[in-house]
Amino acid sequence: MIHSIAMDITTLNKNCLQCGKPVKGRIDKKFCDDWCRNAYNNRLNSDTNKLVRNINNTLRRNRRILDELIPPGKKIARISRHELIIRGFDFRYFTHTRISRKGLTYTFCYEFGYLPADNDEYILIRARLVEKELIKNGG
Ligand SMILES: [Zn+2]
Repeated sequence: MIHSIAMDITTLNKNCLQCGKPVKGRIDKKFCDDWCRNAYNNRLNSDTNKLVRNINNTLRRNRRILDELIPPGKKIARISRHELIIRGFDFRYFTHTRISRKGLTYTFCYEFGYLPADNDEYILIRARLVEKELIKNGG
C-alpha cells in the first residue's frame, strides 16, 4: 500500500520529455512510449550534428579566407581587419594557438595563423613555412 502511494506521487508530475503528456509507470520512465523516446533522441542528435556542422563550416571558411589572402608561394601577408570581416572571417572560431620564438601568440585555423598588428591590421602566416619560428603550444 505504501509502495503504491509512493508510485502515485512520483508519477504525478512527470511528463513525457517529447510530447509533454503525463507518463505512467516506473519512476525513471521519461517517455510515454518508444515512438516518443526515438523522436526525442533523434531531435537531440540532429541539434548536436547541426551545431558541429556549423562550427566546422565556419572553421573551413576561416581557413579558406586566410589561404586566399596569402599569395601563392608566400609564407606571410598583411591585411586589414576590415578586409577579413568583409570576406566573412569569424574571429570567434579557431583551432589552436601557438607562441613564436619572440613570444607572440598566433591564432590558427588549421595551418594558417594570424597575429594582430598595428593600424588595425593582421599578419597572416602559413604555418608549415614558418614552422621553425613556432616553438610551443599556447593556451
Ligand atoms: Zn510522449
